[in-house]
Amino acid sequence: MTEETAETAGAKGQDPEEINRLARQFDAGPAEDENAIDRPRPGTMAITLPCGYLDEAGELHRDVVIRELSGEEEDIIRSKGPMIPRFNQVLANCTESIGTIRDEGGIFRAVSQLTSADREWMTIGIRRCTVGDKFEFEFRCPRCPPQDKVPPKRMDVDLSELEWREMPDPSVRDYLDEVDGYAFAWHVLDSRDDAWMESVQGKVRNALASAAMLARVDKVDGKALAREGKQMTKSIKLLQRLPSRVRSKLRRLFLEREGGVDLTLKVECGHCYAETEFEVPMGEGFFAQQET
Ligand SMILES: [Zn+2]
Repeated sequence: MTEETAETAGAKGQDPEEINRLARQFDAGPAEDENAIDRPRPGTMAITLPCGYLDEAGELHRDVVIRELSGEEEDIIRSKGPMIPRFNQVLANCTESIGTIRDEGGIFRAVSQLTSADREWMTIGIRRCTVGDKFEFEFRCPRCPPQDKVPPKRMDVDLSELEWREMPDPSVRDYLDEVDGYAFAWHVLDSRDDAWMESVQGKVRNALASAAMLARVDKVDGKALAREGKQMTKSIKLLQRLPSRVRSKLRRLFLEREGGVDLTLKVECGHCYAETEFEVPMGEGFFAQQET
């Protein structure tokens, strides 16, 4: 290609502005590649979901391109109100594509219906795009007596090394299982269940494990478990009456079938030497930028 500047173009009677624009376009290289999904831009990341979005036609969408937070999402995270609807918006904003879905409305619908495991994995991905892989936090030993005033231990975890399990059968979201003579109809935990958990938090403070079970279990021995109003207390009672052995087997089924990310860490206290198992704290501060 011969170099054509505004001056020479002008001499030939062409629009110098237009020539300069074309020259800049040439310098910038070819227009955006249609396959850009294979080479994510800085600040974006391609991840595979543990479960995936099942659309109305039964097609599974598992490959997602996410991007870092912008100021808009930062403000949504810091604003008030129930967390799940706010998080639906943050996840949707930060999703560039989910499988073959690329339009805003379709992405919002898909993200709002994802399983809790997928949403957790996406949240971790968005955090990695935004702040990086290293996450630092403080751990307070729950066994040290408060009067000892043991300072919190500084810990860090590499989020790129977290282990995750694929859902064994992503096309199935509803199960019917028999556990030691009890028949359980249950479904994989999703954002609607998380929103319900958030709404009843204050009422189930002393029955959190049973509430987490009620978030998934729809029927026990054919009897439907209601989650709303006064009926909720009855449902919780029914689940509390189950033998502990049955409940742990049921929880193991949830774990096996739902897939997800393993956030469990083990730490030994330097003061009392007790070993504690706890989960990577993904609450407040998870998206905070590290001060350097
Ligand atoms: Zn301790």
